[in-house]
Amino acid sequence: MKKAGTNYRMSSIGDIQTLGRVTLRDELALTGSEISVNELPAGGSVPFVHSHKRNEEVYIILKGRGRFYIDGEEFDVEEGNVIRVDPAAGRCVRADGQTPIRYLCIQTEANSLVQFTQGDGVILDAKPSWLK
Ligand code: ZN
Repeated sequence: MKKAGTNYRMSSIGDIQTLGRVTLRDELALTGSEISVNELPAGGSVPFVHSHKRNEEVYIILKGRGRFYIDGEEFDVEEGNVIRVDPAAGRCVRADGQTPIRYLCIQTEANSLVQFTQGDGVILDAKPSWLK
């Protein structure tokens, strides 16, 4: 389902098992990050090692198990693991032989965040129907 208002957009990632990769920048009109939802089938791998010029990446493993390669080091990953990768690092990911792996990749410009939740969030007087 897609929906949009003045200050938001909602979309759906669809059938990620079939699509393999969905990027959300255009879909959600993101202005500070690129987010992708990815699924590799059992035994599948991203077919190249890549780095970035300016962007760090955070990989969030949502489901399954696999293996990461970062600058020549290889290690196992599983559901619940989160991995931050510096822009210059060469990285690759694969699913293990028995299970697909599903993960989010959030890409943002390294050192661009100037305010965190505590400094940027503002509590408003507005209330949804479920808050009294
Ligand atoms: Zn990347």
